Amino acid sequence: MSYQLCGKVQNLVPYEPNKGEYKIKMDANESWLPLPANIKRRLYQAVKKVALNRYPDPYAQLLCRAAAKYYNVGENNITAGNGSDELISIIIACLLQKNDRVLTFAPDFSMYSFYASLYEIECLTMEKSPDAPFNSEAVLKKMKEEKVRMLIFSNPCNPTSIGISRADVLKIVENTDALVVVDEAYMDFWDQSITDCYHTYNNLIILRTCSKAVGLAGIRLGFALANDTLTKVLRAVKSPYNVNSVTQAIGCEILSHGDFLRQSAMMITASTKLLGADLSALSIQKQDIVKVYPSNTNFVYLRMRSAAETYKALEERGIIVRRLGDYIRITSGSDTDRAALLCALKDILK
Ligand SMILES: *Cc1c(COP(=O)(O)O)cnc(C)c1O
Repeated sequence: MSYQLCGKVQNLVPYEPNKGEYKIKMDANESWLPLPANIKRRLYQAVKKVALNRYPDPYAQLLCRAAAKYYNVGENNITAGNGSDELISIIIACLLQKNDRVLTFAPDFSMYSFYASLYEIECLTMEKSPDAPFNSEAVLKKMKEEKVRMLIFSNPCNPTSIGISRADVLKIVENTDALVVVDEAYMDFWDQSITDCYHTYNNLIILRTCSKAVGLAGIRLGFALANDTLTKVLRAVKSPYNVNSVTQAIGCEILSHGDFLRQSAMMITASTKLLGADLSALSIQKQDIVKVYPSNTNFVYLRMRSAAETYKALEERGIIVRRLGDYIRITSGSDTDRAALLCALKDILK
C-alpha cells in the first residue's frame, strides 16, 4: 500500500517569507511608523479585558461596528477576516464552483491564483503592463469572451503600485454579470477608493486590510465590504471563529482612532514620495536603474538592469527588499532606513 498525495498539492512548498534578522526591512509593505505610546497603552488595556477562556464573537459585531464607522459603510455590510488573505481564500472557494473561471491580472497579488489552483478553479490572467495605460474595455471583452465568473485584482496594484481610476473600475463593475473583487489593500494611500459603492452593485466586493496603513500586520485583520446578500453569504461560509478575540479587541480600539490613522497614512505617503524622488534622482546617475514607477502605495517599484545582483548586494548589507524578475519593490521606511538604503544603492549600482 502506498499513499499518494493528490496532484494539486504534490509540488507545493510552505510559503517562505524572508527570514533571518535584517537590519532594515523594506520587503513586506508593512508600516514603518511606530504606534504612539498612548495608543499602544489603550490597545494593551483592551487586550487585558478579553476573556481568553471564551470563544470570540463569531460575527465580531463590535469590531464590525468600529470598522463600519471607519470605512463609512453599513455595519451589516462588513465581514471581518483573519487577514484579507482569509477573505480572498473564502471568496474564491465559496463564490465559485466547478468549471467556473476567475480572471486576474499579471502581475498582481500572487494569492489570487494560488487559492484558485488550490480550489481547482481555472485562473486566467491578463497582462497589465506598468508601462501601458489601463484599458477597461479590453478587460470587459476578455471577461465576456472567456465567460469568467469572477474578476479579482488589487488597486492600487501590488507589486507595480500603479492604480486604476475609480471611473475605470466602476465601468467594469457596471458592465459585467461577473463578480468583481477589488482588493484595496493600499487604498489608504490613494484617493480612488470605491468603498462608497459597496451597496450600489450586487456584483462587487471590496477588500481592505489592517496590515498596511493601519500598521497591524501582526494581528491578522481584514474586511470585506459588500451588499447585504453577499455579506450574508460571506458570513455564512466563513469558519465561525475566524477572527480571534485578541484581534477583535485590538481592532475595535485602533479603528476608533480615525484621525490618527488618516494622519499616519499621510506620513507614510510622504515618506514614499521622498523614496520615489530619491530613487528617481539616483536613476539619472545609475544606469542599473532602468525605470522608477510613480507610487500610489507605500512602496516603490523599479525596473532594474541587474535586479538579482542588486537584491543580493542589499541583503548582504542587512537590507531586505522584494525582487520580482527584473523588478525590485521597495517598501517605504523611516528617514534613517531610507538614508541607509540610498547609501547602499549608491555604493552597489553602476
Ligand atoms: C498585503 C496585501 C494584502 C493584505 O493581506 P492581509 O492578509 O490582510 O495581511 C491583501 N492584498 C494585497 C494585494 C496585499 O498586498
